[in-house]
Amino acid sequence: MKLPIFAANWKMNHGPTDARAFMKSFLAHYPRQHDRKVLFFPNALSVTTVADAVRERPDLEVGVQNVHFEDKGAFTGENSAPMARDAGATHVLVGHSERRHVFGESDEAAGRKVQAALRAGLTPVLCVGELLAEREAGDTEAVVLRQLRAGIAGLDAQQVAGMLFAYEPVWAIGTGRTATPGDANTVHQAIRAALREAIGERAMGVPILYGGSVSRSNAPQLLAEEEVDGVLVGGASLDADGWNAIVRA
Ligand code: PEP
Repeated sequence: MKLPIFAANWKMNHGPTDARAFMKSFLAHYPRQHDRKVLFFPNALSVTTVADAVRERPDLEVGVQNVHFEDKGAFTGENSAPMARDAGATHVLVGHSERRHVFGESDEAAGRKVQAALRAGLTPVLCVGELLAEREAGDTEAVVLRQLRAGIAGLDAQQVAGMLFAYEPVWAIGTGRTATPGDANTVHQAIRAALREAIGERAMGVPILYGGSVSRSNAPQLLAEEEVDGVLVGGASLDADGWNAIVRA
């Protein structure tokens, strides 16, 4: 059985001082849970702070929000997957919509980042999702599956089976608009079918998270959908008490 996964994407918030305070408050009210997994994606400067805070808690893990696809070199301002691993990360978000649409990251770059993550022993969380115009044009599935296939190109079945995926419609991120649970489930079914085509029955065990204005009030309905294995949460994960309420959903 897949454990539900609750992932917090803090984006460019909570530097080390705030991250320490957040973790202290969160841990004080969130004892170890065996039936769910919580992942934190702080900014790169706060990764060691969060990694230190969760050291004694196997139900909590930390990841980075991005890596470069090279392991090292003259790439000023970038962080690599081996460095993230060294800092205590176990996961990495790849292809988040802000990386794709604010920083112009291509499908191909996302694929190379997935490979870099796997080389370093990190679990990639490949994010896919359509723009509003693409949804309105009826292209949701085509866009999502194009991103998905580029993200897993060249990987073997075992590598894909060890990954996580997140469906995040771009029009729902940070906007207060959420896909209905039924709409989210429909896209998750398409993702599952594409994964099944790629790696067969092992696809059934691969977690597919939903992200896009998830809150404490809509999380339970989203998680009740058969194909929604967890949530990836931005804004509503920034407050320790609010995040505690969501992860108890
Ligand atoms: C995200 O950053 O992945 C996200 C889903 O943000 P929000 O929850 O704020 O829409």
